[in-house]
Amino acid sequence: MDIANLREQMVETQLIPRGIRNKRVLDAMRRVPRHIFAGGSNLRSSYDDMALPIGEGQTISQPYMVAIMTELLELKGTERVLEIGTGSGYQGAVLAELAKEVYTIERIVVLADRAAAEYRSLSYDNIHVRTGDGTLGWPEAAPFDRIIITAAAPEIPGPLLDQLGMDGILVIPVGSRFSQTLLRIRKTEKGLIEEHHTPCVFVPLIGEHGWKKDL
Ligand code: SAM
Repeated sequence: MDIANLREQMVETQLIPRGIRNKRVLDAMRRVPRHIFAGGSNLRSSYDDMALPIGEGQTISQPYMVAIMTELLELKGTERVLEIGTGSGYQGAVLAELAKEVYTIERIVVLADRAAAEYRSLSYDNIHVRTGDGTLGWPEAAPFDRIIITAAAPEIPGPLLDQLGMDGILVIPVGSRFSQTLLRIRKTEKGLIEEHHTPCVFVPLIGEHGWKKDL
């Protein structure tokens, strides 16, 4: 089976049956070479219905989780997006297909460097990668139209809410260390509107406005 078929099968069996409907999101996930970001030797397992290890104790998220988080961002193509938790770089590439500019922060240097190298080799020139504590955001590039946090937080980091523009959307898994709920926050003139979506399990967001240390 060729790689395009593996991606099509991922979309048909993992995403559409679970309710992902946004055609732009589905098409982006048909295009982005997940196996390159997953980095494993087993090409087929890169498209399996699960998170996979990427080294440094971190993971590339399950395809469905990437899809639902992306769908919740309601990207039209004009947005500047901040991602916290670059990891493998896969989610950032999906965002780059659907938004104008992506700013992504990773606290582990080797992961940030590897993702930046993949972006260069795949010619994603609208993705900016930085190493550091993403709970502090990227103040020089703020405000952002969208913010996505791909690690589990005890609460929404204040600096990220501050750096979200008016009418912006922020998506984040919030909860305990081992179980979270995916939240979508909209910033409106009348205040923040919070929706609760699917239960999920992410690796911890570690930083000044996240978990304090590796548990
Ligand atoms: N989006 C990634 C992908 O597509 O592969 C998956 C991210 S992985 C589930 C979570 C990542 O968040 C890990 O790489 C971890 O090192 C990173 N992380 C945790 N705390 C962070 C922080 N304060 N700032 C930036 N990155 C952080």
